[in-house]
Amino acid sequence: MGTDINNGKLCTIHIPIYNTLIILLSLFILSASSPADAAVRNWVIVIDAGHGGRDPGALGSFSKEKDITLPIALKTGEYIEKNLSNVKVLYTRKTDVAVDIRDRAEFANKNKADLFISIHVNWAKQKNIRGTETFVMGLTKDEQNLEVAMKENEVILREDDYTTKYEGFDPKSPESYIMFSVMQNVYLSQSTDLASRIQTQYKERVNRVDRGVKQAAFWVLFMTTMPSVLTESGFITNLEEEKFLNSEQGQDYIASALYRACRDYINEMDKKSGVELADNTSSPAPDTEKPVKQPVSDAVDIAFMVQIATSGSQKEIKPENFRGLKDVIELKSDDRFKYATGKFNNYTEAVEHRKKIEGIFPDAFVIAVRDNKILPLQEALDKNKRN
Ligand SMILES: [Zn+2]
Repeated sequence: MGTDINNGKLCTIHIPIYNTLIILLSLFILSASSPADAAVRNWVIVIDAGHGGRDPGALGSFSKEKDITLPIALKTGEYIEKNLSNVKVLYTRKTDVAVDIRDRAEFANKNKADLFISIHVNWAKQKNIRGTETFVMGLTKDEQNLEVAMKENEVILREDDYTTKYEGFDPKSPESYIMFSVMQNVYLSQSTDLASRIQTQYKERVNRVDRGVKQAAFWVLFMTTMPSVLTESGFITNLEEEKFLNSEQGQDYIASALYRACRDYINEMDKKSGVELADNTSSPAPDTEKPVKQPVSDAVDIAFMVQIATSGSQKEIKPENFRGLKDVIELKSDDRFKYATGKFNNYTEAVEHRKKIEGIFPDAFVIAVRDNKILPLQEALDKNKRN
């Protein structure tokens, strides 16, 4: 059992009126001294939800690629616009419509986008294949990369006049890909930079299997004239990943990962070019609002936390009520109110955390949590092992 916290007292802080005035005054000065005309670079990001309309993209056992890429694209854009004041987001599609590959790229070129992100879901014959990979434009001898590109490029076969529009290119013939060899990807290093940030986010924050950053000849990337990536956010042919990608939480995790990667890329580029940073660092990132902070293992979504208290009455979540701890959450429980701190995707880290707070909560113990509900620890450990 955790420590009962019946001794938590409400404490009211009285701020003298002149302090309030000083705070208000400095807020006013601060806002006046951060002019909107500071040399903040204005970025344009085009987010491209793969497929749409008559083109379903890859098919899973119960869903279509086009219906997964759209919500992820919209959520990603939402995060970016909400948190990055210096970025404008444009979408190649916001509804279930077909958009020609060429038009997607032209849209980005015409709008002078600084970044282009095409969101897709992968397909494989073998159902056990899983993980994420992010592509940049390039020629490859790797057969697997070529296969992914061929599959994504096949879309153009559904377009009218594709032979004239795509210079006689046959997406299904490997020989056709020779034509890309004349091209030099001037944005290779920037595209690769963004792609690796995306993969890192997937791996470290969303716990996805990392299949790496790869090169292949995708038409949509070939035609854009800015750093561009095509990200495959999981396999629709893997049932577990298909479920994850169709869940709201899964889509949210992927979108958050994409947002973070963009944010870090933009901040880094702005820093390099000596441009004053927009107040991106101070704006609340989704991790303070969404449970993306320590993404948990796969579709199972199990996290390990440290339970510090149970109580017959509900406590207001604030540090004073929990001996100064700031990250306490209330867990769903049938009888008593339970409170826990820390959130980890592996058991060992949770044990470490328990040791750290032993001084203030000697009776704290590690629990497994899914959807804010406590699970039997052994069951969680077994499931975690299997992933
Ligand atoms: Zn696709």
